[in-house]
Amino acid sequence: MSEAKTVMILGGGVGGVVAATTLRKQLPTQHRIVLVDREPDHLFAPSLLWLITGQRTARQISRPLDRLANKGIEVVCGDIDRIDPNTRQVSIIERSSTGDTSRSIEADYLVVSLGAELAPDAIPGLAEAGHSFYTLAGAESLREALRTFDGGRIVVLTAAPAYKCPAAPYEAAMLINKLIRKRKLDDRTQIDLYAAEPGPLGVAGPDVSAGVRSMVEAAGVGYHPEHQVVSVDTTQRRVVFADGATAEFDLLAYVPPHQTPRVVREAGLADDSGWIPADRDTLHTRYPGVYAIGDVTGIPLKMGKPLPMAGVFAEGQAKVVARNIALEVTGKGDPAWFDGHGGCFIETGNGKAGFGRGNFYAEPTPQIKLYKVGRRWHLGKVLFEKDWLRRKI
Ligand SMILES: Cc1cc2nc3c(=O)[nH]c(=O)nc-3n(C[C@H](O)[C@H](O)[C@H](O)COP(=O)(O)OP(=O)(O)OC[C@H]3O[C@@H](n4cnc5c(N)ncnc54)[C@H](O)[C@@H]3O)c2cc1C
Repeated sequence: MSEAKTVMILGGGVGGVVAATTLRKQLPTQHRIVLVDREPDHLFAPSLLWLITGQRTARQISRPLDRLANKGIEVVCGDIDRIDPNTRQVSIIERSSTGDTSRSIEADYLVVSLGAELAPDAIPGLAEAGHSFYTLAGAESLREALRTFDGGRIVVLTAAPAYKCPAAPYEAAMLINKLIRKRKLDDRTQIDLYAAEPGPLGVAGPDVSAGVRSMVEAAGVGYHPEHQVVSVDTTQRRVVFADGATAEFDLLAYVPPHQTPRVVREAGLADDSGWIPADRDTLHTRYPGVYAIGDVTGIPLKMGKPLPMAGVFAEGQAKVVARNIALEVTGKGDPAWFDGHGGCFIETGNGKAGFGRGNFYAEPTPQIKLYKVGRRWHLGKVLFEKDWLRRKI
């Protein structure tokens, strides 16, 4: 019997949950699997878009992380305060009504899946004036604002060119547009999407980008790429862009800038790109026994941009890392490599969606196909959501 090992999974989002549950199936119970997250609940983020439109509640799209204890995973709810990648020692602050307690755990393997930190305060006025639909609280406040909206100017904004789920703001604009039509407010409402990036889903190539742009424009949403916000005037309710242009709004929905979590920066795990460099096939970092997966990684592609931040990649990478750790510990199984394949639903509203899928590791450029908008892709996302919330956690 091999010596008992401890695997620590940092983060209970997409990558963390998949890494922990896959490992638990492959590692005998003498080996400890510890998952740490500051949030008590795992949130299925793709459904935030349906929460905005009132088709889902917070309860329907989240699950308590401590359910994983039933599967033999130790769950620690606390703030990861310090990571030493050399010793694989992690300091955690557990918060409770009786005060904070600190503890430290040393692991044989670390899987860093801490995602991207949202930084709305990087743009003056943004957080005060708008609703970030990338958080549960922000999506809920946007839903409330939309419920009482009575016509006017709606601006959907991406505050930086790179963000997780590159389709999400485009989907949000189309879903908001359908909601406005349903409420018969379209004759007195203008919806505009101001994007910091040059076009939608740039990494997926010009055909996919043009395809998504035409979906948005066909829906009647005004699209304005290459508009980098520098501030939001909260009194005049006006977005100010780097080139001096402005956009007035009655309701502002935004994707905030993203940054590496503080604890990752302080651990020295990130490089000049700001993200953790990891081997693109195995997700191993330069520290022995330390892996990084999902949004917190920076994996450059030959075409000059990084692999997009998306749950589909975090999930695929988590499975690869889990299999390789299990192989190293038990000597059983085959090595695995992440192959860069992934797909994403693009909700257009009225029970329809498009779908893009392909190989993001293809060279010289990713090879992605965009499938026609239809009911089946929407149903595909509904089934995916149900399966995730029922079986993954
Ligand atoms: C609106 C929206 C729609 C989306 N739709 C899709 C989609 O359709 N398809 C798709 O593939 N992707 C989608 N995504 C993106 C997807 O959710 C992310 O790419 C994915 O969650 C990344 O997984 P991760 O494990 O890297 O990070 P996360 O899932 O973000 O998990 C990181 C975890 O780390 C925890 N954490 C961070 N710092 C600390 C700390 N110091 N201490 C303790 N815990 C900490 C956080 O609480 C979090 O639970 C969407 C995202 C949004 C916001």
